Amino acid sequence: MDKFDERKRSDIMSRIRSKDTTPERLVRHLLFAAGFRYRLHVRTLPGVPDMVFPKHRAVIFVHGCFWHAHEGCSRATVPATNEEFWQAKLARNRLRDSEVRAALLASGWRVLTIWECACGKRTVHCLRRLAVDFLCNSERICEEIDGQCLRAEQEKETNDIEKH
Ligand SMILES: [Zn+2]
Repeated sequence: MDKFDERKRSDIMSRIRSKDTTPERLVRHLLFAAGFRYRLHVRTLPGVPDMVFPKHRAVIFVHGCFWHAHEGCSRATVPATNEEFWQAKLARNRLRDSEVRAALLASGWRVLTIWECACGKRTVHCLRRLAVDFLCNSERICEEIDGQCLRAEQEKETNDIEKH
């Protein structure tokens, strides 16, 4: 059973959906601090990307794990109430995301998706490095950063430090 009633649940969901979410703000701040300049929520591009880097011909989406149905992520559980409704809705969101990505790639944009679960404070330096690497390398076309890949990166870093 869902621990929230329906009204409360939709209230929570609508706040999660808001454009100016904390993960998005974190990504903006760290890239601004790294010297990047970008435009926000460009309506003329497919899917209204969260951040657009015209100079780098790249866009970034910061995806909420629930709304965009992040596969294999603990934050992406389907609410038990109205399960079928949610399953259908989230599947549609996922399909739409892949169509948007395809449309952007087809018109020559590079697409980086950063998942909400990658926006924890402890892995912020890894997130910055991976995002900067992507933006600065025009051969990298379509990638995702999530919490799992950041933890793996961090482990690699720790091992490298121990080796030296
Ligand atoms: Zn996730």
